[in-house]
This record gives sequence, C-alpha cells and structure tokens, in this order.
Amino acid sequence: MKIDVGILGATGEVGQKFVVNLQNHPWFRISALFASERSAGKSYAEALGYGTEASRWFVKSVPEKKVLDMTVAEVGEASGDEADLFFSALPSETARDIEGKIAKEKPVVSTASAYRYFDDSFTYLPGVNESHAKIIEIQRKNRGWKGFVVPQPNCTTIGLALSLKPIHDRFGLERVTMVSMQAVSGAGYAAVSSWAEQRRAQGSSLPEALGYFVAGTFEGNVIPYISGEEEKVKKETVKLLGDFVDGKIIPASFKIACKCNRVPVLDGHTESVFIETKSKCSVDELKEAWKRYRGEPQRLALPTAPKQPIVVTEAVDRPQPRFDCMVEGGMAVVIGGVAANVFENGFQYTVLSHNTELGAAKGAVLAAEYLYSIGMIK
Ligand code: NAP
Repeated sequence: MKIDVGILGATGEVGQKFVVNLQNHPWFRISALFASERSAGKSYAEALGYGTEASRWFVKSVPEKKVLDMTVAEVGEASGDEADLFFSALPSETARDIEGKIAKEKPVVSTASAYRYFDDSFTYLPGVNESHAKIIEIQRKNRGWKGFVVPQPNCTTIGLALSLKPIHDRFGLERVTMVSMQAVSGAGYAAVSSWAEQRRAQGSSLPEALGYFVAGTFEGNVIPYISGEEEKVKKETVKLLGDFVDGKIIPASFKIACKCNRVPVLDGHTESVFIETKSKCSVDELKEAWKRYRGEPQRLALPTAPKQPIVVTEAVDRPQPRFDCMVEGGMAVVIGGVAANVFENGFQYTVLSHNTELGAAKGAVLAAEYLYSIGMIK
C-alpha cells in the first residue's frame, strides 16, 4: 500500500516539480495539495490557470488529470490528518510555523530553510550525511514532536558538498574555495515568470517563452550578489561533511570561502571549485574517487537514486548547464576540468548540479525514500 503524501506550496516552482515526481511514484501517492489563500478552494488546474494563456504551469512534464482535479487547500488549514508524509515547498517565512505545526504529528521533508540551522536539525543531502540521521530522535525529544522536519541543504551547497564528499573521505581537505554561477530558476517563480512574461508579451507561448535563454533583468547580465547565499553554503558544507559524535555534529575542519553569482541560465548551478587536499594525490586518483563513489541511495537502490551520483567528463568545455544538468535525470553532479594548480596539493574543477531536481523537489523525494527505507516514515 502506498504512503499518502501532502504537498505544501504545491503551486510554486518547486511544488510543481514535487507533483511531477510524485504522481507516479512507486511508494508515495499524492493525497492533498496546499498553497496560499489566493489558490485555496480552486482545483489545481484553476489555481495554475492550467491550459490557459495565463498558465503558471511551467514544468515540461504534464500533470495527471486526477491531480489537476484535486482541490487546493490553504496551507494554514493543514492539520496533519491529510497525509502520512508532507513535502514542503513553502517560502521560509511561512514554513517555520506550518512545518512545525505539522511535525507535531507527521514527518515533513522540506526544500525551505526554516529548520536547516538548528542543532537538532537533520539537514539531509542523500549520499552524503546519512550518519547524522539519528538527530531526528533528538529533535523529536527536544520539541515533543511525533513527526519531524528534515530540510534539504541550499541548492548551491548540494553540488559542492557531494563533489567534496569522496575527496574529504579519502584524502582529507585543507581548504576549499568556490565561485558559483547560479541559474535564475533558483530565484523562484516570480523571477522566472517575470522573465517569461516579457517573452509572452512579445507573442511567445509559455513553453516558447521559457525556452528562451535570457530576458528581463537577467538578460546579458550577471548579478554578483544573492542574499545570504554565501553564509549558507559555508555553514552547510562543513556541517554536511562533519562527524556525528555524542548526539552532535562536529563540523569538518577545512577552511571554506565562496562567492555566489546569478547568471542568465534557466536551470543548473555551475561552480568553479579550488581545493587543497591534506594528503598527496593525483588528478587521476581524484577522478577515480569520484567515479567509484556510491552512497546509501545506491546501496539501497532507492527509486529516485541515480545509478552514478558523480559523473566525470573528460571534455575540456564541459559540464555545461544546457547540455549536462539532466544527466541521470538531474540527480547526478557532473564534474569536469579537473586539473592540478600551483598550490601545494591544489586542484581545481567545475561541478554542475540541477538546482530544481537534485537541488529541490526530486532531491527531497529521494530524501523521503531513504527515511522511509529506514523506517522513519510509516
Ligand atoms: P515559489 O515559486 O514562490 O512558490 C511558493 C509556494 O508557496 C506557492 O505554492 C505559493 O502559493 C505558496 N505560498 C507563498 N506564500 C504563501 C503564504 N504566505 N502562505 C501560504 N502559502 C504561500 O517558490 P519556490 O521557488 O517553489 O521555492 C519554494 C521553497 O523551496 C523556498 O523556501 C525556496 O527557498 C526553496 N528552494 C527553491 C529552489 C529553487 O530552485 N526554486 C531550490 C531549493 C530550495 P500561491 O501560488 O497560492 O501563491
């Protein structure tokens, strides 16, 4: 029998991706959809204007009729009785209250940051920090919850942390520097829609408008600031690669610096990474460590897990978001341009990850599959 799941923030960019990743899931079944009061009381199709000129549906896959016909409820009315598991794609300000309320009774897996930074949070990146999962018991005890909130890391942390994991495990890390080139889709529906609207005003259909590469504020431009992003990436990366000792996560000790930029790309965060390892190793050994890496999602053969979580390309001009961000269904990170540099034990590489697949809804579905497989979701 399938587990009933509710989606909080189902009409947004990440919420729509939850719908397409859950509507034919082998273990989960969508039982309830929630959004703001402007969508509440309408069918999912009406709330999105699906099939009309004003459609807000912008995922390539098609939603099933039974999902389009479901009535959207207001997020504030969710009691926890509507499902056995909730996925949350709410803005963080709203997520704090709602996710906490539902977690009193039921598990919540979230793409929002509201519960990421507490000492009792299991901020989970599949394939990287399953050893921290016992924190869920601490969260339950601390807060008197029967459920829990498991947030995902920030979408920019994900490619970096997954690429560092095998290197940190095998060779140790002294120092990490990262410069990101982040897709516009990570800025949420409002950003993407303002971009698409301009194209539509010029006579394009919505799919055509979204197919355009750049427009609006993003056209021919780079925005070298994303509020709070750099602090999140630094804090999360050392925590994800940290050890779990006596009920606490001890962050990894390497130094990390980063600079984040928004660039005119629709999907896929590209990062230039510079590392210094603790022990001596070669470019070939790094590549071998990445290629051989398999985590818990692969060991457990979870339905949404990529077969190969880290893919290494030898092409000098790859990875590129347009061509490579859907490798393994958007669930793998792709690494290229691996080279030694002038620093002692210094290397550099490019890593690409999909910000709304592995970095949001699909990654959260994989996280829930792991929690289900270890008996945390019933
Ligand atoms: P979005 O497109 O703006 O969607 C927000 C959703 O929340 C919509 O369903 C909206 O419903 C609902 N909502 C907004 N304000 C609300 C309120 N006051 N009360 C109740 N519901 C409300 O945002 P998104 O890009 O999908 O992001 C969702 C979450 O995922 C955010 O926390 C974001 O930081 C995180 N995230 C996003 C990405 C990404 O690449 N986009 C990646 C990782 C994590 P209506 O449609 O009815 O307004």
